[in-house]
Order: sequence, then C-alpha cells, then structure tokens
Amino acid sequence: MALIDNYFQKGKIMGKAKVINGKAYAERLRSRIAEAVTHLKVTHNITPGLAVVLVGDDPASQVYVRNKEKQTAEAGMASFENKLSADIKENELLALIANLNGDTAVHGILVQLPLPDHIDSGKIINAINPDKDVDGFHAINVGRLTTGNKGMVPCTPLGCLMLLKDQFCDLQGKHAVIVGRSNIVGKPMAALLLQESCTVTIAHSRTKKLREICQSADILVAAAGRPQMIGSDWIKPGATIIDVGINRVPKEEGPGKFRLVGDVDFSAAAEVAAAITPVPGGVGPMTIACLLKNTVTSTCRIHGVEEPIIAS
Ligand code: NDP
Repeated sequence: MALIDNYFQKGKIMGKAKVINGKAYAERLRSRIAEAVTHLKVTHNITPGLAVVLVGDDPASQVYVRNKEKQTAEAGMASFENKLSADIKENELLALIANLNGDTAVHGILVQLPLPDHIDSGKIINAINPDKDVDGFHAINVGRLTTGNKGMVPCTPLGCLMLLKDQFCDLQGKHAVIVGRSNIVGKPMAALLLQESCTVTIAHSRTKKLREICQSADILVAAAGRPQMIGSDWIKPGATIIDVGINRVPKEEGPGKFRLVGDVDFSAAAEVAAAITPVPGGVGPMTIACLLKNTVTSTCRIHGVEEPIIAS
C-alpha cells in the first residue's frame, strides 16, 4: 500500500498515466452516504439497515464481512450480523432469508459468496426480496438492468462506472472492452456501459486475438482474475484502464508472504495509458462504498422517500 500512496503523493501521475485514486473517491462517497443517512434519520425517522449473512469460516469472506459491517456502522446505518455454521441446511438458510425479507428494520440483505457446495447459491440469492437485494444479483434485478429499468446494480461494476464518469464527461461512442463475463462483474459492467452508449466488447477465456481486441479499447476493464495478464503492448496509447482483478501472489522476499496485484501489469501499463486504477486502492474500496449507497437507495424506495443524489 505504501507504494501506491507514494504514487498519489507524487501528484497522481505514474509513468504517463494519471492514477485513479479509488480509495480517496470511496472515502468521499462514504461521507456523502453518511450525510444521506443522517438526513433520513432526522427528516423521516428512518435508519437504513443492512443484514449480512456469512456461512462458514472462509478467512477471506470473514475479512470482507468485517469490513462491510465496520463501514456500515461508520455510515450511521444499522448492521445486522448473521454468522452461520458451514453445515447449515439449505432450508434453514431459506428460512433466515424469509425472516430478513419480512423484517422492517432491514432494507438491504447481502449473502456473502461463495456458499458451501451443498447450498444452491442461485436459489438463495433469488429468495431475497429483489427490493432488498443490495448486491443486485437477483434475476429480477439482472433483468431490470439489462432492460434499462430501475433496479439494484451490482456494487463492483457500479463503482467502476462512477470512477469512469469521474474521468469522462461523456462516455458515448467510446469502445469499451471488458475482459471477463462473470455475472457479478463482466456482464453487469457491459450492461452499464451499453446504457452509457459505449460500444461494448465482452471478452473471455475463449476469445481469439484477445490482445488485439484489447489494443482497440478506449476503456479497458480487466476482470479475469489472472495476475498481471495485461501488459503494456495490450493497451492503446491514451486508454483508460479499470483493473478489477485482485490476485494474491507470493512476495519475492520469502515464502508465506503475499502481495496483491491486479490483472494488469500496473507500472508497464502506466507508461501507455492515460489513466489507470491501482491494485490495491482502485476499484476495491468502491465496492463496499457502493454497497452502502445501494442500501440508502433500497431504504428510500421501500419507504417511498425521495432518493438523495449521492456522488463524490
Ligand atoms: P470469475 O472467475 O467468475 O470470472 C472470470 C472471467 O474471466 C471469466 O469470464 C473467464 O472466462 C475470464 N477469463 C479467465 N481467464 C481468462 C483469460 N486468460 N483470458 C480471457 N478471459 C479470461 O471472476 P470474477 O468476475 O468474480 O472476478 C474477476 C476478478 O475480479 C478476480 O480477480 C476477483 O478477485 C476480482 N474481483 C474484485 C472485486 C473488487 O471489489 N475489486 C469484486 C469482485 C471480483 P470464461 O467465462 O470463459 O471462463
């Protein structure tokens, strides 16, 4: 992290590229969210509530959930923890979701993925009331997004879009290439950029001539989960790079030590691109901030209250 902080202090320039400081953007966004929460409390006597469901003891999931709960509380929202044993039965989890759907203090429900193999994740996600589905993974919200209707938008792509809109007044006509077609990142990212009138190409592991396709991108969103796969010769000079990938790779100085890298070779790409998100400190912090933003959105919609405009 110290290295990235150093880039920012040097005036947001790394090589030729501006480093997009997602960490600072997310901090500003969270303080706007806290203001909106205070407004909802004072004016409407409503406290937004987020319920987080964690099944099992996966260490990475535990860290994510702890961060989510901490930032929920810091924003002034109510946080409801549901930590369940890995051997919980599917019908017991469905019963918990039904309870949370009916709980008027809960406006957002998040089930931390992955779930254990014996539980059908799709069944659980689709049991959440779509209006409380702050992750935006419910099939109804997927449909709303792709048809351009008001729904809940998945947090990571929403965060990427906010960072892109901060770079460009207008995204229309730009060629956006997204590497990755998952339901949580690649596909919703494509739907959002299409709504902004970008020309969108979605690439994946079977895509031919991937490097050439990436070279034609004005906006390149890397979400493959492949450490530093995208080098400087994949990038069109002047492109904007959004690196979603979070990969743990061994540190050179010894066994058992790890560092985080993205899907893009950051320092090489920064010599060619106009702007780039670092890892860590780019897209990652935006994901939780957008989760809180979605919880404010769902609260306002559930109570029929005008939604405050929350922008950094
Ligand atoms: P998935 O594994 O679900 O999807 C990866 C996608 O990348 C697939 O569509 C796959 O293609 C494609 N892919 C894999 N290898 C290649 C390759 N060599 N060339 C081209 N395409 C490839 O991952 P997620 O979408 O869940 O996550 C992607 C990355 O983003 C991960 O590193 C993850 O940790 C990170 N992430 C970060 C978040 C954040 O908050 N910053 C949030 C969520 C994810 P195919 O479909 O053909 O298999």
